[in-house]
Amino acid sequence: MISKGGSEALLQALTTTARTEPPDHSTLLPLLRLLARVGQRDRKFGLKVQKAEATDIILGLARRNLGHHLHLIHCLWVLRVCASNVTTGTTLGVNGAMELVFKVITPYSKRHIRTVRAAIEALAALLKSKSNSRRAVKRGFLGGLLRLYQDWHHNDVSNNYIYIRRGLLLCLKHITNIQLGRETFLCSRGMEILFTSVQDCLSCKNLDPITNTVTQILRKCYPKESLPVVTVRSSYFFPLPGNVKAEPPCEGSEGDYESDGEEEAEKDLDDEDVESKEEDYDLETDVNKLRSRPVPDRPEEELGQYEAMCLELSYNFQELESESEEEKSSEDRAESLPSTPSHFFPNATSVKHPNYRWRNQSVTEMGPDPGEKDLKVPLQSWTKKEECRWDAADEKRDAVEAAQDADCCEEEDPARSHTHTLRPLPKEAAWYKKIFYPECEASINPSPGGRLESSDTVTNLLEKHQGAIPFHSPHFYIARAKRVKSIPDYKDLAFPDFWGHQPPPYSKPMVERKYGIQRDKVLDDVRRLIQPGNVIGRTVFDSDEASHSSPGAPGCLTFFSKFESGNLRKAIQVREFEYDLIMNADVNSNQHNQWFYFEVRDMKLAVPYRFNIINCEKFNSQFNYGMQLVMYSVKEALQGRPCWLRAGHDICYYKNHYRCSAASEEGTRGRCYYTLTFSITFPHKDDVCYLAYHYPYTYSTMMSHLDVLEQNRNPKKVYWRQQTLCQTLGGNPCPLLTITAMPDSKKRGDLEQFCHFDNRPYVFLMARVHPGESNASWVMKGTLEFLVSGDPIADLLRKCFIFKIVPMLNPDGVINGNHRCSLSGDDLNRQWLAPNSQLHPTIYHAKGLLYYLRSIGRAPLVFCDYHGHSQKKNVFVYGCSIKETLWQAGCTVDTAVITEDVGYRTLPKILDKVAPAFVMNSCSFLVEKSRESTARVVVWKEMGVLRSYTMESTYCGCSHGVYKGLQLGTQELEEMGSKFCLGLLILHLKSLPCSKKMMAQAAQLLDLEEEITDHRAQRSASNSSLETDDEPPCVEEIDYNTDSCSDGEGDFSELDQEIQECLSWMEGETEDEGVTTGQTCSSKALRGLYISSQPTSNSTALPLHSTALGVYSGFESSLA
Ligand SMILES: [Zn+2]
Repeated sequence: MISKGGSEALLQALTTTARTEPPDHSTLLPLLRLLARVGQRDRKFGLKVQKAEATDIILGLARRNLGHHLHLIHCLWVLRVCASNVTTGTTLGVNGAMELVFKVITPYSKRHIRTVRAAIEALAALLKSKSNSRRAVKRGFLGGLLRLYQDWHHNDVSNNYIYIRRGLLLCLKHITNIQLGRETFLCSRGMEILFTSVQDCLSCKNLDPITNTVTQILRKCYPKESLPVVTVRSSYFFPLPGNVKAEPPCEGSEGDYESDGEEEAEKDLDDEDVESKEEDYDLETDVNKLRSRPVPDRPEEELGQYEAMCLELSYNFQELESESEEEKSSEDRAESLPSTPSHFFPNATSVKHPNYRWRNQSVTEMGPDPGEKDLKVPLQSWTKKEECRWDAADEKRDAVEAAQDADCCEEEDPARSHTHTLRPLPKEAAWYKKIFYPECEASINPSPGGRLESSDTVTNLLEKHQGAIPFHSPHFYIARAKRVKSIPDYKDLAFPDFWGHQPPPYSKPMVERKYGIQRDKVLDDVRRLIQPGNVIGRTVFDSDEASHSSPGAPGCLTFFSKFESGNLRKAIQVREFEYDLIMNADVNSNQHNQWFYFEVRDMKLAVPYRFNIINCEKFNSQFNYGMQLVMYSVKEALQGRPCWLRAGHDICYYKNHYRCSAASEEGTRGRCYYTLTFSITFPHKDDVCYLAYHYPYTYSTMMSHLDVLEQNRNPKKVYWRQQTLCQTLGGNPCPLLTITAMPDSKKRGDLEQFCHFDNRPYVFLMARVHPGESNASWVMKGTLEFLVSGDPIADLLRKCFIFKIVPMLNPDGVINGNHRCSLSGDDLNRQWLAPNSQLHPTIYHAKGLLYYLRSIGRAPLVFCDYHGHSQKKNVFVYGCSIKETLWQAGCTVDTAVITEDVGYRTLPKILDKVAPAFVMNSCSFLVEKSRESTARVVVWKEMGVLRSYTMESTYCGCSHGVYKGLQLGTQELEEMGSKFCLGLLILHLKSLPCSKKMMAQAAQLLDLEEEITDHRAQRSASNSSLETDDEPPCVEEIDYNTDSCSDGEGDFSELDQEIQECLSWMEGETEDEGVTTGQTCSSKALRGLYISSQPTSNSTALPLHSTALGVYSGFESSLA
């Protein structure tokens, strides 16, 4: 009907009918009903009404029928529908519609309920226009509405008129969309009135429409405040080299900005006027841009320096075998590593290789369990030999490299290295006695607040450590941590990083969101405003002021975070067991807060503590979808359970009332903050616990992990070279690894045909460009451990590829507790188009190395950058495809002209099958303009790497596969890293169709015959399920500034029902306000509110006019 011009025809009929005198109501009323029903479905209705010049007619009709309720109701419906177009609503407002409607709304009364309801709903629609809202405030309607609401709330004890109450709230909600409205609301004690009234409604689920609307209004009107910090800029400043501008502009692409400043400009936009914006506006649709290869960002001559990073290409096997040990780049070796007694290494039985389970599943037919064999060999028998060789090599090298080492070895300054201490352990003497030798007690239990010298504590602790944690050595950790250069100059070690973490034996399911949790927390926040006397408001930790860093007042928690990756800035005790926490912004930046890592102690037992991190910045979080943070208890660790565990309850994430004030912070106008709130019940009294956004993985963890790997590899089989890609801005080495197979000179079978370095394609892997994405490091850990393992598949893999790996592209960011940026305050994954050699050295040189490989015809077969994704579940990749991008953008370019190798899809498809956490359907191969300077797009375009990926791992868990419903642990992340390697092998085997024998061999080894041979099966399998993995809208609105339809205002069925009910009443029932029973919250009350279920005795149909007149006589007087 709408598409055939129905609305226009009805409006035309209305103007004609309304002009006839006297009006023919038998035509007019059905016409108005039709208009109301059609109009609400016609997105262009407002425009049509104005075109037909019908606004005056409708207003005039309403005015004339003020004394005739039945007619009036019809007019009000149409008014409401017209007003839902903001422009039309504004016109109506100018012509006095609000005054007219407001007169009809009465205090609590059982009479004329239908009319009152229709009037309130029409008013709510009119108030969507900001100029109407302004006019309403000036006329004093806001106070009137509050009083009306109070009156209805008090008198409607049986909850029979929920729609009326909610209608009044909707009026308040719209009116407070403008600044003036909010101010007037506050002056009229609106916060107290609504907060107090809503307390009666919380226990009744049926009153949710009321409670939710009240909560929205309270959140919106809560006075905006700046964060309680001197400046939102980072506590740390790093002077940048050269003449570079010290404060690069921060691009807040991910931030959330409030439109408050502009709202007064009176831009009421209508949905119908805005062309529905294409979701894909970001896609690159310029074919030439997609296809062209940009000129290199540096002269060819510069690439020569990278030859030294590809020494594997310039030696033959024999030379390599003898020389490889001496080629270790000296600055990457931890000189200060202690001689390593074997008991620091995991012993054979304690090691649980991350791939243990998988290997058992897939290669049991291989005879003696290769896993077992693998586990026994490396850890003890190799180390001895290694050490000997190293010692011999040391002397030769020392002289040559002393000079070279000089500028990166200041840390050998004894004063500096001796100040490193482990954080004090839980104080509880009796408890220590059980764990440590009595004689150690004195040194372990120091005077309160005192720090321990690392040597004693560590020695004592290590005697108990037993080396139970695979691939982790506390000794190596300390040695590495000493050499780290941090801006705050860390002197403390966080216990978990030093001691190590063992994955728990089980995975934890995602947590079910507690009903109404956000509402409860928000109301708790509002209570601070209403009852300020109950707020403690004591700063108990402040990294900007040293005086606050000591233990807090008795009975309150003690916080600390001045250690690698720690970033707590301030803690304020709000109530006895509640703390507001503020995280430090990224160095040289004033934003990017999301990551957190800090220590807390002095807790009581069995008390839930509530923590609110009040300066988060992302607009949504997996914390709203089942994710928990992680916690590590030192007491648990010392009792043999050294685990980061998912913890926290009553978790939710929502927009709060803090704003980055426009005046004080240049370029960050009106940025909004979000609160992550969670409660923790600590496992022990007076424990030392660590809380983090995700499983921490520090720079020292990575460096010491490389030390352990290097020591534990089989040097006969594993070619391993650790070099320094470059020094970071902060002066820390960024390691570059080369891993491939050592040649087996004795026997050269079929498998070895492919083993010449000349033939092996490169695979280039990177991780942790974004410091807050520690999940990426755990995936990388899995990849590295697999690649150097004795697993036969790893063996094969090393023979197939040369791996170039940069395990941590942003060491400074990781060290200093950043979430997103490097010390320059830049997002390094937005610098690939033109990295600055001074400001972005790791990117500059990683790209240089890739240029070099391309220049010698050895561009990598696969490039993958490991990341973490905070909004999605599962693990997936982003790749690049011209065709898919053009298709998705709906581009008219003849895509048949463009030929594109679809090989970029093969690896993700394989991973979908072999890696339990990986989901093909979550992958995307679109090239976005906003991503043009990411590693993935630049490597694809400039290096011509077809398989160039960003691999995103969830922080949360999986929605598919065997891990469905579970939160991922480090074990699953590491498994992903090893399965990625397996995927590479299968990819490679698929590309070698000629070698049937090798395929068969590999297939047998992998028990994966189908995977390798059956292409078609795979293709159809991955296309079969077309689910999307985007999160559904959150049950509770995280934001509150948008006028969404979730409150039911835009629901067609509601008005339809209202009209239908009125009709049935007209046809047979009198309006005796049929709430006959006083049932609280009955579904009937919700549905119809006032429709009598029993036909009354005088239900015979009367002529319309007389019925209405009879019922409504005397209405005029009630208006007075
Ligand atoms: Zn990232």
